[in-house]
Amino acid sequence: MVKENQLKVHNSLTGQKETFEPINQDNVGMYVCGPTVYSNVHLGNVRTFMSFDMIYRYLKFLGYKVRYVRNITDAGHLTDDGNVENDRFVKQSKLEKLEPMEIVQKYTVDFHKVLEKFNLLPPTIEPTATGHILEQIALAEKLINLGFAYEVNGSVYFDVEAYNKKGLDYGELSNRNIEELINNTRDLDGQGEKKNPVDFALWKNASPAHIMRWASPWGDGFPGWHLECTVMSTKYLGDYFDIHGGGMDLKFPHHECEIAQAKGSNGHEPVKYWMHANMLTMNGQRMSKSTGNYILPMQLVTGENDFFEKAFHPSVVRFCFLQAHYRSVLDISNDAMLASEKGYNRLVEALKTLESITPKKTSTVDIAELEKKLYAAMDDDFNTPILIAHLFDAVKMINSIKDSFENITAEDLDRLNVLMNGFVHEVLGLDTEAVNESSDKLDGVVKMLIEMRNQARVDKNWTLSDQIRDQLSALGIQLKDGAEGTTFTF
Ligand code: AMP
Ligand code: ZN
Repeated sequence: MVKENQLKVHNSLTGQKETFEPINQDNVGMYVCGPTVYSNVHLGNVRTFMSFDMIYRYLKFLGYKVRYVRNITDAGHLTDDGNVENDRFVKQSKLEKLEPMEIVQKYTVDFHKVLEKFNLLPPTIEPTATGHILEQIALAEKLINLGFAYEVNGSVYFDVEAYNKKGLDYGELSNRNIEELINNTRDLDGQGEKKNPVDFALWKNASPAHIMRWASPWGDGFPGWHLECTVMSTKYLGDYFDIHGGGMDLKFPHHECEIAQAKGSNGHEPVKYWMHANMLTMNGQRMSKSTGNYILPMQLVTGENDFFEKAFHPSVVRFCFLQAHYRSVLDISNDAMLASEKGYNRLVEALKTLESITPKKTSTVDIAELEKKLYAAMDDDFNTPILIAHLFDAVKMINSIKDSFENITAEDLDRLNVLMNGFVHEVLGLDTEAVNESSDKLDGVVKMLIEMRNQARVDKNWTLSDQIRDQLSALGIQLKDGAEGTTFTF
């Protein structure tokens, strides 16, 4: 049963917040463009996948049965410079002296490890482009037969002008005008082959040296990038499905091309709600591999990087990301991470406090009101920053109950527990137990070192006792000797 709700989602296609009404009652089909697995995912990529993880989690939390498809781009015509020989997979395989499919395997494993670390749920289907070559060829053939694509020298291109002449409106998602596009497109790819610079590849002819290649009616070649998402989304979700997501930068040309391919072949829109997540910047600059302003997710967790003064727990990173709305740009910096860590620790402390509260006969707190606010925040286009603000109202409430300024009945306490666990663990996906467990372990290790230092002092081994204190201090752990013994602070 889906909880009665007034969920509104921002639809990039209309630019409006719309009431969410799935096509098939309680079932939701959601497709999110996955990673291109030719290198390690960076923290910016993680933000986008985390935004859709939060959306997936909330839909499930409301009771929807969600089929969540997120693909792996392990082939496809992707270059940085338009040169067909600089296909990213082939280029990387030459660089690392590995087979292209070894590159794919290596970075797919890395991708999964990283997302697991940040507590993202796996999609329900994770199809690959290489597993759907036949379907991509079939769609290219269909588009040729319908007059929306043409073949030149073993490559097949989508004919944007033919599509537009049928009144199908190329550019509707990114609000681009075809004349402007024709005048401003400087795409080196397919020069001399394309009828029009805005036309895009559905299939590319492979030169004899090109290693990633498949047989097709047009000779050996490989698929265009946009084709795979149309094929995989419609294969698993039908030719009209609820949600299609990805980063803002995919709106054009990728998603625009997906719409054109689907509408060209079926005559109607493929997606009810298009959703786009905004970018991550670091120290005010867009995170991207090409500019060097990027950090690998694990480097933030281990502290091995030049941008942050310390390591941060994956849950703190997750909390930091969700403190921004998914459609806003989020800038991370050392100060922002430290502030998030503080806030996160307050939340974790409050959850611990909640466990030790003794109920009273009457309540002076309004749990129904809190519940309304938590749902309302998420129903308003997944507004996690407002949700978190209300969770901090709950933190204040919990602390007031602990200090006996407020009272709570057993029934209300149960409700509060359900709400806090539901929204913190299930919806936001914060693994507060893991933080407790690892910080408990760290506490144990520091206490053990203090005992060793005490023994060293008894043995008058001042070199060892100083070494323990200094090395802990270098790690940011300060020891303080007092009448009660030695205490420590982080
Ligand atoms: P890619 O592997 O390059 O196709 O990117 C995977 C996903 O990460 C796409 O949805 C991109 O839009 C998204 N992405 C790339 N750079 C950033 C960034 N700096 N911040 C947030 N998302 C990003
Ligand atoms: Zn895609």
